[in-house]
Amino acid sequence: MRRVLYPGSFDPIHLGHVEIIETASHLFDDIVVAATVNPQKGTPKTGGGLFDLDERVEIITEVCAHLDNVTVTQFSGLVVDLARQVNADFILKGLRAVSDYETELQMAQMNHALSGIHTVFIPSASTRSFLASKLIREVTQLGGDVSTMVPEPVQRRLKSSLS
Ligand code: ADP
Repeated sequence: MRRVLYPGSFDPIHLGHVEIIETASHLFDDIVVAATVNPQKGTPKTGGGLFDLDERVEIITEVCAHLDNVTVTQFSGLVVDLARQVNADFILKGLRAVSDYETELQMAQMNHALSGIHTVFIPSASTRSFLASKLIREVTQLGGDVSTMVPEPVQRRLKSSLS
């Protein structure tokens, strides 16, 4: 049984994330998607965020309902602590560009040094590689239409928050 942990802030989850989760669901027996607090990214409370952690977990659960080997949780703290807690064999990260690789490689090496757990990378399809939650938040907050970039449960909530 190969279990992988896919951590991220997912504020909001977008189609780049969904692609990684769907690919991983074919590669691994089990995927735990964890919405984490990222102090460098805004939250609804500190400003700049779109959804609180509970809402993000609810949305990701809805988005992944068609994948029966995906579970969703939330976490604040060290990713390696969560990886140990859920018995993950690997940590999963998506890669958009070389710039992602540089920071993600350093983080992967740190996580390996802390826990002995390796990180597995899945590259984004080029059509999705420009997607980033931060940009989606910025465009949304300035009134732009991101409906082709996010799954339906996100679209629906963004629409109802505007009406
Ligand atoms: P973002 O990086 O979009 O602001 P997260 O921090 O929630 O959002 O990202 C969680 C994980 O998903 C990270 O491993 C990140 O590299 C990966 N990821 C983000 N966007 C994409 C994308 N467009 N394609 C593939 N992986 C992505």
